[in-house]
Amino acid sequence: MERVDIAVVGGGPAGTCAGWKAAEHGASALVLEKGVPRADRDEPGPDSTDAAGILDYWVDLMEFEPDEIPEEIILRNLDGADFIGPSETLSIDETGIDASYPHFGFAFDRAAFDDWLRERAEAAGATYRVGDTVVGVETDRSDGHTHTLTLSNGEEIVSDYLVLADGPQRTVTNETLDQFTAPDRTIADVLDPSRVNHIAYQEHREIPADIYEPHRLKFWWGIMPGHTAYPWVFPNDGRVARVGLTMPIGLDIDDYDPKQWALLSEDDEQIPRGTEYIERLLKREYPEYDLEDFPLVEDRGKRGGTETYAISSTRPIESPTAAGIAVVGGAMGGTSAFHEGGDHVAVRTGKLAGKLAATGELDRYNEAWKDALGTEFRRNVTMAKLVEDYGPSDWDRTFGATEKLVNRGAYNVTSMLRSGLTGVRLVRQYKQTKRQFEGDNYVQFRESDYQRL
Ligand SMILES: Cc1cc2nc3c(=O)[nH]c(=O)nc-3n(C[C@H](O)[C@H](O)[C@H](O)COP(=O)(O)OP(=O)(O)OC[C@H]3O[C@@H](n4cnc5c(N)ncnc54)[C@H](O)[C@@H]3O)c2cc1C
Repeated sequence: MERVDIAVVGGGPAGTCAGWKAAEHGASALVLEKGVPRADRDEPGPDSTDAAGILDYWVDLMEFEPDEIPEEIILRNLDGADFIGPSETLSIDETGIDASYPHFGFAFDRAAFDDWLRERAEAAGATYRVGDTVVGVETDRSDGHTHTLTLSNGEEIVSDYLVLADGPQRTVTNETLDQFTAPDRTIADVLDPSRVNHIAYQEHREIPADIYEPHRLKFWWGIMPGHTAYPWVFPNDGRVARVGLTMPIGLDIDDYDPKQWALLSEDDEQIPRGTEYIERLLKREYPEYDLEDFPLVEDRGKRGGTETYAISSTRPIESPTAAGIAVVGGAMGGTSAFHEGGDHVAVRTGKLAGKLAATGELDRYNEAWKDALGTEFRRNVTMAKLVEDYGPSDWDRTFGATEKLVNRGAYNVTSMLRSGLTGVRLVRQYKQTKRQFEGDNYVQFRESDYQRL
C-alpha cells in the first residue's frame, strides 16, 4: 500500500497546483487523475474544459507574473468584451480592476495550460498519475487523521492530508465530506451536481473572415431562458472560435414563453439541445451566412470539434480542515457559470491548500482562501443573485443604462449620472444585494456545520 503525505483527487488546475505547491514545500504529493481522452491530445489527461479566457486581474489572483505564462499557451490577447442583449449592447474595453497584465485578458489553450501546470508540479517533485479513478475515501480520525483512498483497480493509497479537486461533478467530494456531516444537512444537499451545476456545450468553428473579431469575447444575454443561461463566442487562434453556451440542468419548456426568448421557437417541445441553440444563434446573428460558412473544426476539443461539460454555478463551502481535508476549485463550489470564471479560483485555492497541508497549517486554509478570493466571490455571488429573475427586457434595460456596473464590479458617480435613474436604481440594488453577502456570508457551508468533525 503506497503512503504519501498528501493525496490529491483530480488533476485539473486546482489539483495540479495543490500537488505542485505541496511538493515545493517538501511534502510527498500524489495527484490522481482519472484521465479523459481528447481529440487534440495524444494521451488521456485532465478534463481540460476548453473555453478558456482569463481576465487581466485573474492573473494576479492566480499569483502568476504576466510574463511567467508561456507564449504558446496564450492564443490571443483580448481587447474587450461585448454583452449583447435582445436589442441593447454593452461593450467594455477594460475590466475596471487594477491588474498587472497589460491587456483586457487572453484566450488560451486550456489543455496546454494544464500540461504546463503538470510540468511545474512534476518539476517540484510531485507525482502525477493518469488513469487512476478514485472511487472512495475513508478517513480514520482515531489518531489525528489518515485517509485511505481506493482506486478503481482496487489499489489503496494512504495519506495524512487529502485535497479534493475532482471538479464540479464532485465524484468523490460529496461522499467524503459527508463522513462528517449530520443527516439533516449534508454536502450532497448543498452541492448536488444535478441541482447546482450548469451544463456547458461548445463547438469549435471557423468563422468567416469579415465577421471574425479575434480580440473580443462575445456574450448574448436575455435570448435563452434559465438563470445565467447564455451563449458566447470565444476567439481562438487563426479564424477558429469556440461557439458555446451554458444553461441550468433540467429546464422545462412549459415554464417559458417562446415569444419572449429569441432562441426559442413556438414548435419546441423541449428545451433545445446545445447544438440546436448554436445553430439558431448563428442564424440570428449572421443572417447573411449559412451554417456551412462556419465549418466545425473536428480535430479540436473532446470529440469531433465539440465538447460537453458540467460547470459549477453555486456558492463556496468551507473545508473540514480539522480532518486534514481541503476542497479546492470547482469541487468546493468556488467557480461560477455566471462569468465563466474558475481557472483563477482553481489555481489559487489549489496553491493555498497544497502549501498549507505541506507546512502543517491546513487549519488556516478556510481563512486563507477567503482573504485571497473573498472580494471576487462576493462580487460574483452578488451579480448572480441580482440577475436571478432577469428576462429579456431586464437585460436590455441594464445594458442600456450602464456601462460601468455589469461584470466589472466598479462604478462611480460619473457612470451613475451618465446612466440616469435606471443606473442609480441598479447601483442601489447591487449595493443592497451585496450587503446580504457582507463579510464572508457568501459561504454556504461552514467548518462548524460539519457536526461530526
Ligand atoms: C465550457 C466551459 C467554459 C469555461 N470557461 C472558462 C473561462 O473562460 N475562464 C475560466 O477561468 N474558467 C472557465 N471555466 C471554468 C473552469 O474550467 C473551471 O473553473 C476549472 O476547470 C476548475 O478547475 P478544477 O481543477 O477545480 O476542476 P476540473 O478542471 O474540472 O478538474 C477536475 C479533474 O478531476 C478529475 N476527476 C474527477 N473525478 C475524479 C476521480 N474520481 N478520480 C480521479 N480524477 C477525477 C477530472 O477528470 C478532471 O480532470 C469554464 C468551464 C466550462 C465548462
